[in-house]
Amino acid sequence: MGLGEIYESMIEEFKRIGRLGQIAGLLHWDQQVNMPPKGIEARSEQLAMMQGMIHGRITDPKFVEALGELDAAKDKLDEDQAVNVREIKHEVDKLVKVPRDLVEEISRHTAKSSGAWVEARKNSDFGSFAPYLERMVELKIREAKAKGAEGESVYDTMLDDFEKGMNEQKTAEILEDLRGRLVPFIHRVLDAPPPEVPPLTERKWPIQAQREFGLKLIRDIGFDFEGGRQDISAHPFCTGELGDVRITTRFYDNDPRPSLFGMLHESGHALYEQGVDPAHLLTPLGSSVSLGVHESQSRMWENLVGRSLAFWKTYYPDLQAAFPEALDGVPMEGFHRFVNQIKGSLIRVEADEATYNLHIVLRFEIERDLIGGSLAVSDLPAAWNAKMKEYLDVEVPDDAQGVLQDVHWSEGYFGYFPTYSLGNLFSAQLFEAAGEAIGDLPAKIEHREFAPLLEWLRENVHRKGKRHDPRELVRLATGREPSAEALMNYLEAKFAPIYGL
Ligand code: ZN
Repeated sequence: MGLGEIYESMIEEFKRIGRLGQIAGLLHWDQQVNMPPKGIEARSEQLAMMQGMIHGRITDPKFVEALGELDAAKDKLDEDQAVNVREIKHEVDKLVKVPRDLVEEISRHTAKSSGAWVEARKNSDFGSFAPYLERMVELKIREAKAKGAEGESVYDTMLDDFEKGMNEQKTAEILEDLRGRLVPFIHRVLDAPPPEVPPLTERKWPIQAQREFGLKLIRDIGFDFEGGRQDISAHPFCTGELGDVRITTRFYDNDPRPSLFGMLHESGHALYEQGVDPAHLLTPLGSSVSLGVHESQSRMWENLVGRSLAFWKTYYPDLQAAFPEALDGVPMEGFHRFVNQIKGSLIRVEADEATYNLHIVLRFEIERDLIGGSLAVSDLPAAWNAKMKEYLDVEVPDDAQGVLQDVHWSEGYFGYFPTYSLGNLFSAQLFEAAGEAIGDLPAKIEHREFAPLLEWLRENVHRKGKRHDPRELVRLATGREPSAEALMNYLEAKFAPIYGL
């Protein structure tokens, strides 16, 4: 076989494996949206079988060998082929290095550890979860050591799974800089006299009207309903690829924020998937580049667009018409303050866009020390509570509202948390660069002209696929190294008038 043929047959097999992944994705979506409770046992078996098939095919010796041949002859490949080979090989190299018995052991332990975490959180009893977490740390360190590249630290390898090229040192530099600027900013905000916020959670927000209004917003920003749909689930998420991208939302009848901003958030993820290059579907060049960049898209539409004054200047009259009782006598500025409050709080997923990042910095510092060996599992609650006090001036009343609140560690996701803050940072930096390229973005938003921003993102982010590592992608799109600068400028400019700073 010539090199061209080897490439074609390798990429065809990779696409078939990708289709298996799509089928698994649909099974998972169905589980969250439609499945009756008694379906769980069969569904777990179906999903495990799919994962086994995918793992078996991607680590198949023939497939791995073809990749090796292509890599050895990469100078003879064209540029697109070389990117696809590089990216597929990067993932496959890691997968084949982990011994099968370790993969199975991690999978078995994850099931037990998740169960133990659910119980421990319910009873706010960290002690009952600690042995499971200790074992998880041990297993994940073994896995990272097996698959890590030369010269990487264990935590580098873990980060690479979620944000390629973003190692421990670079992440620490960025997040420590962010922390250094955010802590004094947040203290200034918290020391200021609180602005007047209308008591809108005491009013009724009919769910059907929330849904209709949210659907209108996401249609306006560019969500393609011919290539996507929106449903209800307990935990909002986005799944699928170009042609069939699905988002979910949850609704509360005493608060419109989770559904409105949740729909904008998940639509930001969806717009990324709907915007990839159709010529490269199911290959790295037609896939999103990283979790951090994905989160930058969701955060941009949710926060920089959706919580802006320009946005509510144009949509507030419609919102008032949709919720005449809830918004009776409430001026637009009051509603804008209602959706833009900074408060030290206990729970990450309920945090505002400024304090949210300190919840992430705290998790990053703790998991890095845990993996590096300088922090013992038994000392986690104390370390957590001390940092909550230091960064957010919050006393943690119990572990359920502290160290036990997130699912990630119980499932072995170490190195995942930093991508949330990188996403926030990238979102502000990309939005700033888009504004420089397009001109007055707030004026465009106020006229409901979202296409220029979306087209800029398509060109500079979505259609790039995995051509560049995430940091490089952001640098090329914005002309600057990723940093906390743009996010801090944005937060200052937005919250100074609200809090009279
Ligand atoms: Zn998200």
